Amino acid sequence: MKDFLRKSARELARALQTGELCSTELTRAYLDRIDALNPKLNAFLYVDREGALEAAKQVDADRAAGRDLPEFAGVPIALKDNMCQRGIPTTCGSKMLEGWKPPYDATVVKRLYAARMPILGHTNMDEFAMGSSTEHSAFGVTRNPWDPQRIPGGSGGGSATAVAALLAPWALGSDTGGSIRQPGAMTGTVGAKPTYGAVSRYGLIAMASSLDQIGPVTRTVADAAALQKIIGGHDPLDSTSLPDEKSCLLQAANEGSAKTDLSGMRFGLVTEMMGEGYSSGVLSVFRRVVEEIRARGAQITEVSCPSLDYALGAYYLIMPAEVSSNLARFDGVRYGNRVLPKSGPVTAETMMRATRETNFGTEVKRRIILGTHALSAGYYDAYYGSAQKVRTLVQRDLAAAFGQCDVLLSPTSPTVAFRFGENTHDPMAMYMNDIATIPANLAGVPAMTVPGGLSEGLPVGVQIIAPAHEDARMYKYAAVVEALAHSDGIQCPIDALEENA
Ligand code: GLN
Repeated sequence: MKDFLRKSARELARALQTGELCSTELTRAYLDRIDALNPKLNAFLYVDREGALEAAKQVDADRAAGRDLPEFAGVPIALKDNMCQRGIPTTCGSKMLEGWKPPYDATVVKRLYAARMPILGHTNMDEFAMGSSTEHSAFGVTRNPWDPQRIPGGSGGGSATAVAALLAPWALGSDTGGSIRQPGAMTGTVGAKPTYGAVSRYGLIAMASSLDQIGPVTRTVADAAALQKIIGGHDPLDSTSLPDEKSCLLQAANEGSAKTDLSGMRFGLVTEMMGEGYSSGVLSVFRRVVEEIRARGAQITEVSCPSLDYALGAYYLIMPAEVSSNLARFDGVRYGNRVLPKSGPVTAETMMRATRETNFGTEVKRRIILGTHALSAGYYDAYYGSAQKVRTLVQRDLAAAFGQCDVLLSPTSPTVAFRFGENTHDPMAMYMNDIATIPANLAGVPAMTVPGGLSEGLPVGVQIIAPAHEDARMYKYAAVVEALAHSDGIQCPIDALEENA
């Protein structure tokens, strides 16, 4: 069974179709592995053993009866804990929602059900998706399977760890400023943020609505393309949802991985995404990948996007502004576990204050305060207004860059996974983790990470950024990078983990 756990979702789907394997066996194997390793890793906050096995059993019965099934029927998946699944505890990593069971399914969840994929459970995350290390979850840190003394990235550290440690073949994440891609880089997995609007946000508990996007967390580029196809497409329940994707994403990924001669392919390197702040180990892995690409005939151009120097600042105004508005609903009346004041009169206001004071963690409070301040009448133009102007400049700079190349390449994250506590004392140091991922969210363009190699024995991610609506191109070029960067695969050394589990 262990051999099967290493396989990609596409290989598993094939094994299920040919009858080499049944979904009940496969799902149980993942659940058993979660039981054995989760106490150490804390990747899952909730495991739905019964629900997953029931879904698997029905797929097996339908297959035995010769009924038509979708391609990935029976392949299990994990969900980040900010996507509503009816009847299943969904907490966003916060005490505010502890014990809450959504009364409805997110669109992505409905699509997973339609694809007949058993849902293994919900994965850990920084509270309300705010963070870059999964140290801000109210339910404990998630550990990086490459080195359990280190963070797995954030906010989606749970999904990334689950996929890296073979607790799930693939998972869903959400990316507001890098929460799919940065954990992907830190755990040696693949993570994609589709074009804004390509995947419905209906039922995703909002962080910053103009930046949030759901996307795949996988071990291969082809799996990510296949998963985006399953969860993506138009949804009338999300007013920012785009029309259905016309191109075949999986075919694009397959074309990319078959390529050996790269002439005619144009890669751009962004000057502002390679210099200051990036560790020398990360840069040397990145340069090695670039040289491989060049050696196979691709054109490499350096482009400059000066506005990117201000992208992090703009993000940390726009995002908290939206956070302060989106999180107003957690007041103990509309949503959230109600807390009454310990002393003094009980009024609506004192109750709301006690509820928010008790249930929100420090990072969430920091952002609500920052956002409320940035939106206040006297400061609106100086902060929020200026940030929106920078956002427009970032969009323009990236669009201009795509006039000179097909995709942009950069390191996904400026460093490899750091040790617990290393950045918690200094919010700015934590925010710097996102310098390479944030521009794609501000511009709404698709971007993904693939493992590029190792530095200090830890994974380094390479980011591929494509123009808006060119998700197929992103997958094609990412598959090229994947094939070059690690033809032997970058495998997480999980054997040691198992020994002392
Ligand atoms: N790390 C970033 C932040 O803290 C991104 C979060 C995200 O993408 N959800 O805001």
